[in-house]
Amino acid sequence: RLISRVRSVLGVELSVRAVFEAPTVAGLAARLVGAAGARPALRVGERPGVVPLSFAQRRLWFLHRLEGPSATYNMPMAIRLSGALDHDALRAAVADVVERHESLRTVFGEADGVPYQRVLENVEVDIPVIPTTESDLPRHLESLAARTFDLTGEAPLHAALLELSPAEHVLSLVLHHIAADGWSVAPLSRDLATAYRARAVHHSPQWSELPVRYTDYVRWQQELLGSVHEPESVINQQVGYWENALAGIPERLKLPADRPHPVVATYTGGVVPFTLNADIHRSAVALARETGSTLFMVVQAALAALLHKLGAGTDIPIGSPIAGRTDQALDDLVGVFVNTLVLRTDVSGDPTFRELLERVRETDLAAYAHQDVPFEHLVEVLSPTRSLSHHPLFQVLLAAEDIDPELIDLPGLRSTLRPVGTGTAKFDLSLSYRERHTTEEGSPAGIDCRIEYSADLFDQATAERIAAHLSRLLEEAVRQADRPLRTLDILMASERQRIVGDWNATAYESAGHGLTLKDLLEEQAARTPERIALAFEDSELTYADLHARADRLASLLTRRGAGPERVVAVAVPRSTDLVVALLAVLKSGASYVPLDPDDPAERTAFVLDDAQPVLLLVTEETSALLSGIGSGPGRILLDSPETRALLAGSEADHERPEDVSSAGALLPHHPAYVIYTSGSTGRPKGVLISHEGIVNRLLWMQAEYGLTREDRVLQKTPSSFDVSVWEFFWPLITGAGLVVARPGGHKDPAYLADVIEDHRVTTAHFVPSMLRAFLSQPAAATCTSLRQVICSGEALTADLAQSFSAALGIPLHNLYGPTEASVDVTHHTCPPQAGDAHPPIGRPIWNTRVYVLDAGLAPVPVGVVGELYLAGVGLARGYLGRPGLTAERFVACPFGAVGERMYRTGDLVRWNGAGELEYLGR
Ligand code: AMP
Ligand code: MG
Repeated sequence: RLISRVRSVLGVELSVRAVFEAPTVAGLAARLVGAAGARPALRVGERPGVVPLSFAQRRLWFLHRLEGPSATYNMPMAIRLSGALDHDALRAAVADVVERHESLRTVFGEADGVPYQRVLENVEVDIPVIPTTESDLPRHLESLAARTFDLTGEAPLHAALLELSPAEHVLSLVLHHIAADGWSVAPLSRDLATAYRARAVHHSPQWSELPVRYTDYVRWQQELLGSVHEPESVINQQVGYWENALAGIPERLKLPADRPHPVVATYTGGVVPFTLNADIHRSAVALARETGSTLFMVVQAALAALLHKLGAGTDIPIGSPIAGRTDQALDDLVGVFVNTLVLRTDVSGDPTFRELLERVRETDLAAYAHQDVPFEHLVEVLSPTRSLSHHPLFQVLLAAEDIDPELIDLPGLRSTLRPVGTGTAKFDLSLSYRERHTTEEGSPAGIDCRIEYSADLFDQATAERIAAHLSRLLEEAVRQADRPLRTLDILMASERQRIVGDWNATAYESAGHGLTLKDLLEEQAARTPERIALAFEDSELTYADLHARADRLASLLTRRGAGPERVVAVAVPRSTDLVVALLAVLKSGASYVPLDPDDPAERTAFVLDDAQPVLLLVTEETSALLSGIGSGPGRILLDSPETRALLAGSEADHERPEDVSSAGALLPHHPAYVIYTSGSTGRPKGVLISHEGIVNRLLWMQAEYGLTREDRVLQKTPSSFDVSVWEFFWPLITGAGLVVARPGGHKDPAYLADVIEDHRVTTAHFVPSMLRAFLSQPAAATCTSLRQVICSGEALTADLAQSFSAALGIPLHNLYGPTEASVDVTHHTCPPQAGDAHPPIGRPIWNTRVYVLDAGLAPVPVGVVGELYLAGVGLARGYLGRPGLTAERFVACPFGAVGERMYRTGDLVRWNGAGELEYLGR
């Protein structure tokens, strides 16, 4: 297989021997260059007194010094030995191997700041025997794997024999990476087997001498690469290549992590093993063959495509270990030769998988041809921003493993080799895989994969999902290589059902279904006519009085042309009059458009011109402010003596609004209000919200947070923001009391604390920034009447939620929603004690569906950032008088009934595993 692959990749004839011993195509490429005479030969040479370190050793030594002794660079192995074990032979065999491979008996030191290595002549190998049981075995192996090495004083190998029974043992070998790499495992196991076989019959092993020693390699590496001070040296030429290839590489790949990078990585990690079945394996090998690439390249393309789909962008650097044994003489040595290549994968432009694979092939072959520059040197030259929180140049690793677990063949024993988890992770994510083949024909029998993840960033469940997505993507990609990546699905059917269906199962028919806001308000007034509906400064109004006033104004409005599908503008400072005015407009069947007296005159003029209200309700004060604005609609001055008399009922006017209405009956789909949002384009746009949308929102709120008649809700949000809608009307449809803050009071935390205390307010809203200001008031702590606070409008941070719960110890409700969807669409309650680590915006409210979609409008998996789209009864009818803009933001919904729309929020969110949304910005 390898021969034909190398032939097709390199177009070169190769000897069988070279192919069989070469670990990768990459190694072959380098050897070909060597064979062509372009490299110095690797020979046994003189050993100077002090031997410097190879590049790879230098890096490990540096890390050892920097981080202190740790298990991060341990290579633990467990060899299971079933059968009658000859303990003495095993002990002698391990000693033979240590004797044969100098790396296993080398210690390190530093002289004048320059590190050196020293090969010890004799080392005692102690192999303690530890009795254990099957259930204790993993714990034993893990604790052995976690032992740290003193590289200056002891051999970088620990061995121990775990004894389960006289005929069942596990040999634990833990090496420090400075002494060995993944490609050392094969010669190590082979030599161990040879030595054991010999020692079992009381011989010493008969093996041919190793062609070179590790220290010869160190010298050769320096000769080969030349000096960084010579412009034409191999190292400088190759560096030139890499500088170009890696220019502008992303500093840190955006991964679908559960948590942000900590300031300093802890290197704790976990492992998820999974298997790609023989079918996928066969198709992947076939695709590799067909495209002149390798299985590694296929897996790399799939990994890059997956990361792209998981939100990592289109420029995906993937690190990959490369054997570095570019001379045949190194094949049988135990030692660290491995180098790391950065394979930059370009996923831009929605290529087909085949096109992506072609790009990967080009990139990889070029990288292999420049594989000699030690990674550490590249890092120095390219000097990416160094950080203790993440790996430089790449954070995701891909490694093909070719260690056969049945490799060790000991006489009289059945033995299998297993890597042992160290509980550490060097990278954010690393994927390693090993091919299996059928014993008879050697045909593909499946690929064993492992994802090792950083526990700083990922939960086990997330890593498991990534594994499942990779399997799914590979399966689709290798069978349908000509489909664009966009169309490759990574969601499993069950996952799609959960995200799109189960988490959106919000259909609910409430008792108020089919009613308008006007109906709800009037029904409540009929239930509790004598209760106090509203308090403002020193005055109070009962439900009966409030409605009587509003009814009188409503009939005036109706006579002056207000009705369904018509707009009445309300420019009234916060006051009893404001509440009466809003109620009256609703009663007339018209929708209200609030004008904030504090808004700049140009905005108000724009809104008046845009909304084309039939009437404008003003006070003396706002009338003066609006004097500069042309003729406009007819005005009603609420605080004129005539209107005052009318509202107080001292003038005869008992017509009910319906009696004089000319515009027909009010229906649930008629607009209730029009609120202008500033919008990013700068030009405000009026959002038309229907009665059914806001009724659903208000009834949901009552079902969820249940106001009683004893509750009092603070009204402080300017009426031009939609939060004010529930502040006004939620208490008034439930029999609770409305406490209206004085004009300007919403910006004054000390005043707010006073009002809350004086009026025994139980429920109040704050945007997070104002909540922070409020909590910084000593008086906030005395607001003991509060039983819940509602937050929305901006991201609620963990620290704010925590200081809130520390100060008040009551529930904090985080609501999210754009004006375009009836105030709020999702909700989450931070528990009264100890807030959330990252308060989510939560789950959808009644009759509301939320979709987190990628650029192709496909749902993204849990944990992946996408754009939030909303559907359901709360959606606005659109932007007043702006059909083009409406069509742009309210688009056809592919998940709902025919003709259903969804609103594109522009907000970036992701699902957490519990079916709640997390907000990440715009
Ligand atoms: P508006 O249309 O003025 O209500 O603004 C809606 C926008 O405010 C949303 O699209 C979000 O960007 C932001 N927003 C609203 N509520 C929240 C929240 N709870 N957390 C984070 N952002 C929010
Ligand atoms: Mg909002």
